[in-house]
Formats: sequence, structure tokens, C-alpha cells
Amino acid sequence: MERRRALIAGAGIGGLSAALCLARADFEVSIFEQAPRLEEVGAGLQLSPNASVILRRLGVLERLRAAALEPRAIRVRRARDGHLLAVLPLEDAEWRWGAPYLLAHRADLQRALVAAVAAEPRVALRTGTAVTDFSASRDAVTIALEDGEAATGDLLICADGVRSRLRERLVGAARVVPSARRTAWRALVPAASVAPELLQPDSNLWLGPGAHVVHYPLRGGSVVNLVAVLDTAPKVAPREGAWSTPGDPAFLERRFAGWAAPLRDLIAAAPDWRIWPLVERAPLARWTQGRVALLGDAAHPMLPFLAQGAAQAIEDASALGDALSAAVDVERGLVAYETMRRARADRVQRQSHAQGTIYHLSGPAALARDLAMRAAGGRTLLARYDWLYRVGSVPT
Ligand SMILES: Cc1cc2nc3c(=O)[nH]c(=O)nc-3n(C[C@H](O)[C@H](O)[C@H](O)COP(=O)(O)OP(=O)(O)OC[C@H]3O[C@@H](n4cnc5c(N)ncnc54)[C@H](O)[C@@H]3O)c2cc1C
Repeated sequence: MERRRALIAGAGIGGLSAALCLARADFEVSIFEQAPRLEEVGAGLQLSPNASVILRRLGVLERLRAAALEPRAIRVRRARDGHLLAVLPLEDAEWRWGAPYLLAHRADLQRALVAAVAAEPRVALRTGTAVTDFSASRDAVTIALEDGEAATGDLLICADGVRSRLRERLVGAARVVPSARRTAWRALVPAASVAPELLQPDSNLWLGPGAHVVHYPLRGGSVVNLVAVLDTAPKVAPREGAWSTPGDPAFLERRFAGWAAPLRDLIAAAPDWRIWPLVERAPLARWTQGRVALLGDAAHPMLPFLAQGAAQAIEDASALGDALSAAVDVERGLVAYETMRRARADRVQRQSHAQGTIYHLSGPAALARDLAMRAAGGRTLLARYDWLYRVGSVPT
């Protein structure tokens, strides 16, 4: 019997993971990526055990391992004076959740996925080709490509990211909206410019009024990944859809003037800031229609406060492969995929939003949050993520 053919728009984290999962479900897969090359873009990603367990199954974890770092803990501090509020231990992640918690550069994860795809004869990756449209019939789906060509398959997965144009084609024109002026600032700081204590293998979170900062070492401790999320709009607004709008360091230094000295020093040491607009949208009522389905950020754009954008895309890919290998036909398989995933992804989307409010509290509310964190302790705080990180966790 001829192998079924899957088309995927977008070779980001979700699209590449989906290609590997569909190949395992015995599909012939073609991925179309608009970028001419998959370049060194992005910065650090936190890869929680719910994602790393899938990467291990796909043979990607061992390709990533050398470039990734396993943090000992998440250390939460009060921004004003650096007072330690909680230490969430991650050393027993493997035992507790069944897979490691990792810190990796997005480009390293993408490279590991591309290497796995290159080793999979059932997957073909074509770059420099945007998918501009699709049309589906009872028996097939056809995509139109930017270069005027077309391709036909049994199903189409739209993994074209947070500003997915194929999503609009599938479910209507409701766009992602900027998240209440929130902006992420990102930088990679060379280890040589950083105090040695900031190179410890930990993930660090600083909570302040209207802003928080996350930093952790990456790539064998050669750089520190630094991300500041602010409720303040920058002087120069980041370009729509851009990942590389330069940020003015003077603006950031003024904004963090009242924060603890070690953090201010780290911020001042960043050679180059990039700003990145945060966007979100309400959960979608559906992700699939006939032979076409959304996946990853295209299906559930979320704020980064639970660090789950990449992890949820990887979970989508795994569910997609499972659903299609078990289904009698493609359309029912895609419905099963949506059923397996939507409630959980909606919950992660909602909780990411709520977490942002908690992180950025000020005044008495922040004091109450800090007291509650100290009283609870790291292990209790960590237990609140069991539903998210535990392998095979299901919607509740
Ligand atoms: C350049 C970039 C840098 C990022 N950096 C970070 C980061 O540093 N930290 C972090 O936590 N998250 C980052 N993210 C977001 C994070 O990677 C995603 O939340 C997560 O991986 C979800 O993956 P996805 O596959 O749904 O979307 P993405 O990883 O965004 O991938 C979507 C892909 O689709 C391609 N595409 C878009 N439209 C079309 C089209 N019409 N036809 C064909 N291809 C198309 C895009 O070029 C992109 O490669 C970044 C995303 C991008 C695109």
C-alpha cells in the first residue's frame, strides 16, 4: 500500500518535531519553511520534562545533550535586594517526572531536530518556500507555495508559528494581540563579563514590580542567557513579527535602577539587546478542519511565563503521531489529536497568563506573594508543576 503523505508548513520546533512523529506513524513527510536558511536566531529555551521525554523517544535528546545544561534548581529572588525567596530543586527531575529539565539555545534544539530529520529517509525539508494558501477536498489537500508551485498530500499541518497566516485561513481572522504592552528583552552575555556566581548551573528568577528577569548559563557555561520581561513599552516599538529589533540599553538600565546590584551589573554587561513583543490570543474553539490542523504556536500562542511555548509544540507533535497511527482515516486522526491536546494546551495558555500577573505584582500584593513563597518552600512550590511536567500528564 502506498504510504500516506503529510505536508507541514513551518520548520520551527513544532513542525520539525511533528515531521519526526509522523514519519514514525509511517507517513511520507514534506516540510516547507519560508526562511531561506535555519539560522542562529532566538535565545535560551527551558525544556521541561514533559518535552524532554518526547525528545528522548525521538532520538533528539542525545543530539542535544552536549549543548544543553541540566540546572540544579530554580532560584527565586526579590528584585529590590536580591533576597532569596525560594529554591525549587530540579536535581531529581528524572526521578520525579521521568525525564530531565534542560536549558538549551533555541538554535541548538532546532539543529538537533534538523539532524534527526536529515537521518529520517521519510522526511524531506525544503527551505526558502512559504506556504501561501491551501485547498482541501474529500480525498486530499493541496498547498500553494510562494514560488508558484503546489504540493498535494493526505493532510496539512500548519506549524507556521505565532503569527500564522494559515490559522487565519482555517479559523477566521481573529489575530494575536500585543500583550498589554509587555515586551521581552533578550541578550546573551559572554561568561567572561559575568560574576562567577552567576555561572552556577541554576535557572534564576528575579521578581519586581511590573517586571521580572530570568537568567541562566547556556552552552557549557560559555554565555548567560538573559531575558527581562517588562510591563513598560520600549521607546522604539519592536517590529511586527521580528525577533531581532535592537533594544536601547540605556532604557533598560534606567528601568532597573532600583534593583539589586548583581542584577544591574549583569544587565549592564549585556553587549547587545534584542526586543521581542509578547503577543497572545484567547484559546481557539477548534484546531482542525477536515484534513488540515494547527500545531504549536499557530494553535495556542502563549505568554512565556511558564516557559512552555516549545514544550507544548513538542507535546502536540507527539499526540499527532499517536492519534494518526491509531486512526482509521486521516480526518478522524486529526480530530483525535485535537481531543488529546486542546484542553491541556488551553490550560497552559491560561495559567501562563495568570503567572504573569503574579510575577509582576507590586506593593502589598507583592509582599504577600513573597511571604507565601517563603512559607511554602521550594519543594511545595515545585509540586504545583507536577500536572505540567509529569510524563504523560493528562488534562484535569
Ligand atoms: C526566530 C525565532 C526565535 C525564537 N526565539 C525564542 C527564544 O529565544 N526563546 C523562546 O522561549 N522562544 C523562542 N521562540 C518561540 C518558540 O520557539 C516557540 O514558542 C515554540 O518553539 C513553538 O514552536 P512553533 O514550531 O509553533 O513555532 P516557531 O518555532 O515559531 O516556528 C514557526 C516556523 O514557521 C515558519 N513559517 C512561518 N510562516 C510560514 C509559512 N507561511 N510557510 C512556511 N513556513 C512558515 C517560520 O519561519 C518558523 O520557522 C522563537 C521563535 C522564532 C521563530
